[in-house]
Amino acid sequence: MPMLKLPGLIDPHVHVREPGQTHKEDWDTATQAALAGGVTMILAMPNTKPPIFDAATLDLALDAAKSKARCDYGQFLGAGPDNADIAASLSGKSAGLKMYLDSTFGELRLDDMTLWGPHFINFPKSVPIVLHAESRTMAAGILFAALYDRPVHIAHISLKEEVLLIKAAKERGIKVTCEVCPHHLFLTADSPLPEGEGLGVRVNGRREVRPRLATQEDVEALWQNMDVIDCFATDHAPHTLEEKDSDNPPPGFPGLETLLPLLLTAVYNGRLTLDNIIQKSVVNPRKIFNLPEQPETWIEVDEGAEYEIRAVDQYSKCGWTPFEGWQVKGRVRRVVLRGREAYRDGKILVETGYGRNVRAEERT
Ligand SMILES: [Zn+2]
Repeated sequence: MPMLKLPGLIDPHVHVREPGQTHKEDWDTATQAALAGGVTMILAMPNTKPPIFDAATLDLALDAAKSKARCDYGQFLGAGPDNADIAASLSGKSAGLKMYLDSTFGELRLDDMTLWGPHFINFPKSVPIVLHAESRTMAAGILFAALYDRPVHIAHISLKEEVLLIKAAKERGIKVTCEVCPHHLFLTADSPLPEGEGLGVRVNGRREVRPRLATQEDVEALWQNMDVIDCFATDHAPHTLEEKDSDNPPPGFPGLETLLPLLLTAVYNGRLTLDNIIQKSVVNPRKIFNLPEQPETWIEVDEGAEYEIRAVDQYSKCGWTPFEGWQVKGRVRRVVLRGREAYRDGKILVETGYGRNVRAEERT
């Protein structure tokens, strides 16, 4: 059986949940899920408990990653109301700076726009500031990129108005890039999703995700403007089924293990090309985030293998997927990371601690 050989994928948007919420996921399970999905490098988001916003909390995340990660990684810093100097001084050890412009997360809250400026001024321009900024907030973020003449990367775009604005901003030479998540390409607000048992009329927490699932028109606009989209990112955001089916369901979907099979199925259906996947999951994220090459790293995929996505087969601790029961075509069979076989036919073959920090000063 001839195997399709692809470079190891880079996922620039992963919630590892460690420190603080390791019942949902941790550096070991998140990186196992990554490898099983053909992802050999992840960039971890900072809204953990505690959030990653200074030297002590960055060490907390990096120490856990160093001992537990099985694939390569970087860790984002979070922007808070008074850590612009500290964040800039730690930039070399971080994947970049994440600013939550819509949501509020304790220490990472940015209540008004006067708090954005110091970060835009101080954080080095060699890597973009990543913005969680939806709709009109996104427009404000792009204005800041223009005012301060520095790159910004818009996380998880989901709306027609967003992709069109980014297109217009790029045409004007504003330094903006963006990513889209598979769930915003393959699901709408009306898609049937698995439900918890006995939910009755209550809200189905398994639908909850931010940005919310959008309309068919939005989804079509993303597909039609695929050339505007720089990266695919999972926004892997695991919560347990118990939490998703509770009265107060937290938003977020797991995604590391379904990214590539969904994209390969789109290739099979003629909606994407393999080159789209390589550009948006390897070449562009490496360039945008200034990431090192991973030597002797590739994945092997059985293009013809059809199978059903099932949460029970996944390495993520969260125990569910919004794509349960989906038929996909294209299975990851083997992953080689820096010369070692890291995954083969359902088995993880590298130990915890094999993963390397992509911002570590000494790499061999
Ligand atoms: Zn996220």
